[in-house]
Amino acid sequence: MNKWIACLIIGLSLICCDTSSKEKLISKSPASKSESFGLVIHGGAGTILKENMTDSLEMAYRDKLEEAIRAGHKVLADGGTSMKAVTTSINILENSPLFNAGKGAVFTHEGTNELDASVMDGHTLNAGAIAGVTTVKNPIDLALAVMNNSEHVMLSAKGAEKFATEQGIEIVDPSYFYTDRRFKSLQSILEKEKKALEKNQSTPISYLDPFINDYKYGTVGCAALDKFGNLAAGTSTGGMTNKKYNRIGDAPIIGAGTYANNASCAVSSTGWGEYFIRGMVAHDIAAMMEYKEVTLQDAAQEVIQQKLKNLGGTGGIVSIDKNGNVAMEFNTAGMYRAHMNAEGKLIIKIYENE
Ligand code: ASP
Repeated sequence: MNKWIACLIIGLSLICCDTSSKEKLISKSPASKSESFGLVIHGGAGTILKENMTDSLEMAYRDKLEEAIRAGHKVLADGGTSMKAVTTSINILENSPLFNAGKGAVFTHEGTNELDASVMDGHTLNAGAIAGVTTVKNPIDLALAVMNNSEHVMLSAKGAEKFATEQGIEIVDPSYFYTDRRFKSLQSILEKEKKALEKNQSTPISYLDPFINDYKYGTVGCAALDKFGNLAAGTSTGGMTNKKYNRIGDAPIIGAGTYANNASCAVSSTGWGEYFIRGMVAHDIAAMMEYKEVTLQDAAQEVIQQKLKNLGGTGGIVSIDKNGNVAMEFNTAGMYRAHMNAEGKLIIKIYENE
């Protein structure tokens, strides 16, 4: 009798094991999701007009965007994670002097370069961010290390740099970030600011005002969906030219400059950071999708064209949702942007009506 009971128990437990392992396989199956992987990147928004661009400069931007998006796409196509795709694409843009991130970062009022970056994983809702670093070659790598290897979400300035050294992240002399073009931009803004002040001493002027500065935001960012259905986003920047007082923008603020949640979408922002922080732009788009069940495009359009605009903010976002739909929405004259889907279809655009 006992033998029969023992056999029954063993038999039942074998059936149970078999079912649960099948369930695991089913729940991990990427079948439908693998068809919709993809990524989208930006290299900043702003007063980017064809008439102000030379053919060779435009070509240089398009080539660099293509290099970055193809590298991220390869990671995804080879079965890599969305986070790996995000950092791979962003590293390429950070290493290019064309963009306001890493090499090519804009200058502060004092003539230094202070870098901000963040990443977020849509599966775990883990995030990492760094602000005000002056010696880290690739700030996005440090943001990732903060997420993976520290118990914190955000580190700043000297402490962040100490952590970078401990993590073996590449450190460079601050002079690495110098580019003539960005230094000249600072000089011309300082000149304009001086003139504006001389003209009308009684009206306070915003030292970040894009209308005085003729702004071209050059932040870089990426949002990706991998074959496993996981979303990730990242953003890296030098901030805004002429920033003072160790100002920190939206790029390292989770929910403003970067947000990712598998329940909705992954977003990276670029624009006048103060407005993106006040509007919690990246999270707002995800929240609209999650709570109001609107499409990514509708959510992005409402947040960038209505809410942000009404607040007085300029800029844009790139985003990908859990089904691989993409939004590249901006309320400026242009935004450097590119998208590549699972089939390898590539879109690269700069101006508004392309
Ligand atoms: N959002 C960035 C900041 O405010 C600037 C940019 O997008 O270029 O720091």
